[in-house]
Formats: sequence, structure tokens, C-alpha cells
Amino acid sequence: MTKRVVLIGHPVAHSLSGAMQQAAFDHLGIDALYELWDRPPAKLPEAIAELRSDDFLGANITIPHKERVVPLVDRQTEEAHTTGAINTLTRDGRKLVGHNTDVAGFKVALDRMVGRQKMPRHAVVLGAGGGARAVVYGLIREGFQRVVVFNRHLHRGEQMVKHFGRSAAHMDLRAMPWHESIIEAELSKTKILVNATSIGLMDDTSPIPAEILTPDLMVLDLIYKQTRLLREAASSGCTTADGELMLLHQGAAAFTLWTGQPAPVDAMHEALTAARADGVTSVEGEPGAVQAAGA
Ligand code: NDP
Repeated sequence: MTKRVVLIGHPVAHSLSGAMQQAAFDHLGIDALYELWDRPPAKLPEAIAELRSDDFLGANITIPHKERVVPLVDRQTEEAHTTGAINTLTRDGRKLVGHNTDVAGFKVALDRMVGRQKMPRHAVVLGAGGGARAVVYGLIREGFQRVVVFNRHLHRGEQMVKHFGRSAAHMDLRAMPWHESIIEAELSKTKILVNATSIGLMDDTSPIPAEILTPDLMVLDLIYKQTRLLREAASSGCTTADGELMLLHQGAAAFTLWTGQPAPVDAMHEALTAARADGVTSVEGEPGAVQAAGA
């Protein structure tokens, strides 16, 4: 019987994850179908309950449900619990387990960007949504000593810092008000800048002015395209990376959780590139999805 895996979001009209995961199933000859379920928040509990049946290998969860799904699962991994966000579900009998594979995806992207250089210990993170939670947790686990979060709505940044509480007790994790002069002062003390806001996703804007980017910065934008921030950072002499590797590797980790098999990463990468060339955007990259998430 064909097994089912679903992506639950609102909306989910097109999806790079769909192309990438179906290619992985097909490549390994696994009889499974990756479906897109558009469910508004009110319908989420019903959709999650459906996943308990034997038909399903599991699910991906995306905007705007990553945090909302937490109380609907039976168990969570340490990553999901600590970040307070779930992007992957697996089934253990009729019980549902919540995972956060964005953390693993971010680690691959960070390691690749830093390359052979010594891993820095200070970072600036722009944003405080679901993506930023995975980033901040990834930095905590990597042994960063100071991470400063800037978010448009300061209280959301502060809430996130509070949420990490004990896991960040040994280091300096703080939220600061979004003022250019404060961001500039922090950037002068750091080597890593991560954009985890959706600024630059829908239009060609950058979260910060090019003048405050210094050549020794490494700039990672979670958005899966050459954003204005990345172009300006490259012109300023910075090392840059976009969100492709994070998207690919969060997907690869989810695939392994569902199937117990190593993910065919090359086939997934190829499908991702082809879907993107066809104009498919990531679910997180849909205008409606971002608005629905209240961004
Ligand atoms: P959320 O909706 O949870 O968070 C959106 C974030 O962007 C918030 O911090 C929000 O600030 C900020 N923001 C949005 N619009 C503006 C604006 N006009 N000015 C200032 N701040 C703004 O989304 P996610 O965290 O899930 O996703 C954020 C980005 O990261 C998206 O672009 C998504 O595509 C990308 N992403 C990529 C992944 C990958 O695998 N490559 C994985 C996850 C995310 P506020 O709280 O003040 O509203």
C-alpha cells in the first residue's frame, strides 16, 4: 500500500519540499506519496489527528503551524522541546513524535559557510520567528558565547531569549531593540550575521544598510535566493551563503526519520534545483504564507 507523507501549512500551493521529497522516495523506489495539505489554524488539530493512522509515515509542518503543533503531539525530541517549534512529525504506533530538523539543516549551512576557519563565538541574529529559534539553538549547541537577537517587535525577541532560559544560562544570549546604530555596534564585535527574518523574500529589500557590513563578516540568509542583503554583503567583501543547504538538509534529516534510510541528498538537490528553475518557491517563500504567519 502506498504510504503517505504530508506537508501541512497555510497556504501550501507549491512547494520545493514536495519536489525534493518525492524525488527522494522515487529515487530509492519507496512506494510513498508526498502530499500538500493546506489547513488553516482552526483545522490543524483535525489534520494532526488524521496522521495517527497506519497510512502515514509522517509529516512536515510549516508556516504558520510550527509552534502551534507543539501541544498536539505525544512526544518531542530535545531539539523540538528546546526550540519550541516542530517542523517534522513521525509516528510511533498511534503516537506522534515532534522533531525539529531545521536545527540540523542550519548546522550544515553554518559549517559550510565557516569552512576551514575557526568557528567564531559571537553572532548577530535578525528575527525571532520559527526559523530564528532553530538558528539560535544551533548557535547555543555550537558553543557560541554571545548571541544578540534583533527583532522588529522586541517583545518577541525577548520571549525567545526567555524560552531558551536554562539552555543558554552559560552564555550571553540577549534581545536588543532594532536600531541601526545598535546593530552596527554589535556587528563590529561579531563575525557571523544570520538573517532569519523574511525581509528580502518578497521584494528586493535588505534588513540593514550596506554601509554597516564589514568585509570580515560571514553572512547567512535563510531565504533561499540571492537576496539584496547577500548581494550587498558580497560587494562589501563578506563571505555569504543562502538558505539552500538548510532547506536541503532539514529535508534530508526528515526523510531519514520517516524511512530509516540515508537520504539520497544528490537526487534531492537536483530536484530542488529543477523545481526552483521552474519557478516553484519554498512554502516559506510564498507571499501568502508569510502574511498568514503575521510577518
Ligand atoms: P516567521 O513568520 O516565524 O518569522 C518572521 C520573522 O521575520 C519575524 O522575526 C518577523 O518579525 C520578521 N519580519 C517579517 N517582516 C518584517 C518586516 N517587514 N520588518 C522587520 N521584520 C520583519 O517565519 P520563519 O521564522 O519561519 O521564517 C523566516 C524566514 O526564514 C523566511 O524567509 C523563511 O523563508 C526562512 N526560512 C528558511 C528555512 C530554510 O530551510 N532555508 C527554514 C526556516 C525559515 P516580527 O516578529 O517583528 O514580526
